[in-house]
Amino acid sequence: MTQHFIVIGNPIAHSKSPEIHTQFAAQAGIEISYQRQYCPDDAASFTAVIEAFFQGGGVGANVTVPFKQVAYNCCVARGGLSEHAKVAGAVNTLLLNKTLLKNGASIAEAIYGDNTDGQGLVNHITSLDWPLKDARVALIGAGGAARGVILPLIEAGISDLTLANRTLSKATNLVNDLSAASETIAKQQIKTCTTDQLSGAFDIIINATSIGLSGDTLPLSDELSGHYAYDMMYGRTLPFLQHFAERGAQTSDGYGMLIGQAALSFERWTGQAIDVVKVTEILQTH
Ligand code: NDP
Repeated sequence: MTQHFIVIGNPIAHSKSPEIHTQFAAQAGIEISYQRQYCPDDAASFTAVIEAFFQGGGVGANVTVPFKQVAYNCCVARGGLSEHAKVAGAVNTLLLNKTLLKNGASIAEAIYGDNTDGQGLVNHITSLDWPLKDARVALIGAGGAARGVILPLIEAGISDLTLANRTLSKATNLVNDLSAASETIAKQQIKTCTTDQLSGAFDIIINATSIGLSGDTLPLSDELSGHYAYDMMYGRTLPFLQHFAERGAQTSDGYGMLIGQAALSFERWTGQAIDVVKVTEILQTH
């Protein structure tokens, strides 16, 4: 029987999720339909669309810009949140909470939220054989993407985290918020600084800013060095990666993170693990 999935966003026409999940389903030998779902940009419309989708027999939904926080609020009031979604303050994966359904909850009351973005990054970095255990990591950016990766990075065993952001107060507020939300994060001393003050030797330097969208370049100090540089952006030439490649670092864009977070959503929905490296190779030749 065909299992139904959607990715919901606004805009949504650009989303690569249907192609990615179609490849996953082919690998897992499952018949699926995975559609792009446009939604007006307001919480009431989002809730109505999602409830109708699950009531109509939908199995799972991915959530993208601008609805990740709306989805979080929707799940707080319904089927609950995973630890990663709670700490990220955002949801990218929706499914039904089977325990609540068994206990008599309605479908609308059982909508549950997870967040696989950060673990998708960790899994991609691991697949590149970049060592995360005991790594000194610098993370640049203090928006939604940075917020979602901090707990998974700490869980992966990094020894040291410095969070740099153009607006320092956003970095310090983020660390305070996350330390209050998670004991694991509170135990880790996270240093903060402005992006231009970030200096020293790191194992991994991660760009989680949206600067790649604007074509501007980050003000990086000559005193900043890393063995590995990762940019969460993908699909274009990234000056951040060029900067570190010229200084001898290994580099990667965020395409593998995109596939990695999708694979984890697919696994939550179907119980099927995906060979991400194989699917990435197939998609890159398309
Ligand atoms: P947000 O809008 O929440 O945050 C943007 C961040 O970028 C802020 O820290 C902001 O700093 C910083 N920034 C923006 N412009 C500049 C600039 N000109 N100079 C310095 N810093 C700047 O975005 P998100 O966190 O949601 O997304 C960040 C990036 O991550 C995007 O490019 C997105 O595409 C990518 N991403 C990739 C994923 C993947 O699967 N590969 C998944 C999720 C996100 P300030 O606080 O000072 O404004």
